[in-house]
Amino acid sequence: MSRVLSGTAIAAEIKREVAAEVAELASQGIRPTLAAVLVGNVAASQIYVRNKVKTCEELGLGSEMITPPASVTTEEMLALIAKLNADDAIDGILLQLPLPAQVDTKRLLEAVSPEKDVDGFHPINAGRIQSGQPGLAPCTPAGVIEILKRSGIPIAGQNAVVIGRSDIVGKPAAMLLLHQHATVTICHSKTRNLAEITRGADILVAAIGRAGFVTKEMVKPGATVIDVGINRITDHAEFEKFFAGDAKREALFAEKGSTIVGDVDPHAFEVAGAYTPVPGGVGPLTIAMLMANTVRAARMRRAVAGKSN
Ligand code: NAD
Repeated sequence: MSRVLSGTAIAAEIKREVAAEVAELASQGIRPTLAAVLVGNVAASQIYVRNKVKTCEELGLGSEMITPPASVTTEEMLALIAKLNADDAIDGILLQLPLPAQVDTKRLLEAVSPEKDVDGFHPINAGRIQSGQPGLAPCTPAGVIEILKRSGIPIAGQNAVVIGRSDIVGKPAAMLLLHQHATVTICHSKTRNLAEITRGADILVAAIGRAGFVTKEMVKPGATVIDVGINRITDHAEFEKFFAGDAKREALFAEKGSTIVGDVDPHAFEVAGAYTPVPGGVGPLTIAMLMANTVRAARMRRAVAGKSN
């Protein structure tokens, strides 16, 4: 039987630690505070931001939600970001993506002060992470490392293969694994003989954005498989391909008309030694690491030493 690495349980553990840090900072008169900018009315973004704000409240962090209209311009967003950068009460700034097409997302992400860039998307933070300096790492890849470490999965000396080279997930995940002394291979859409490479992985991280892309044949027996993917499927034939015989999921699919599948075909988990399920794997870590980054940003900016420094 493969071991299930519960992101839900690990995220809960991290959140407890963050809450304890927040309580300790409160005794010094500091309240780490996140400003979440939600533009327009994208339903999924509204849910994500609401969850982030709710988690801030649960853990004792301050939060502020700013909701510019969908028609906002790049200049207006730049003015808003400048105001938040200058506001001493704000420790973290989060721009919920995607932003509307008329605004220059790259320019806006680069306008966020690197000290308040709790999503870890600013090139300065990417550079800091690459060169091993203290910085703010992107939440999802940081969560991948936490899952491995807290599950006692050895990383040093292991062959780690990351499928996907995005700036948000694949590239930083590879860099963080390298810092943990793994031997890292990054694969992408132009990689030849992909299955041959992935079969050499002791740790396989899938961040592709294609439902069930990683099949059983691509996984080395006993490997640890970290599935970052979140893909909604609505086609019943596709559902059957991945989940035939799973009565609980079938009932949920019938009720909702969709289900979430990762970038790994669930049948591939059977050969893995350990794996993160979808949902309940990497997903919950992303919010937990955002909270941890906000506390870290507060400490770094105010030069308060602590666990996360
Ligand atoms: P992206 O589209 O930016 O990048 C996908 C990567 O996959 C690219 O680098 C591309 O080269 C690679 N790729 C595409 N087709 C391939 C192929 N046939 N063979 C090999 N590589 C291929 O996506 P992203 O933002 O990195 O997200 C990846 C996945 O992770 C998505 O499913 C996304 O929903 C999910 N995600 C989850 C979380 C979370 O909180 N769990 C956070 C961010 C992203």
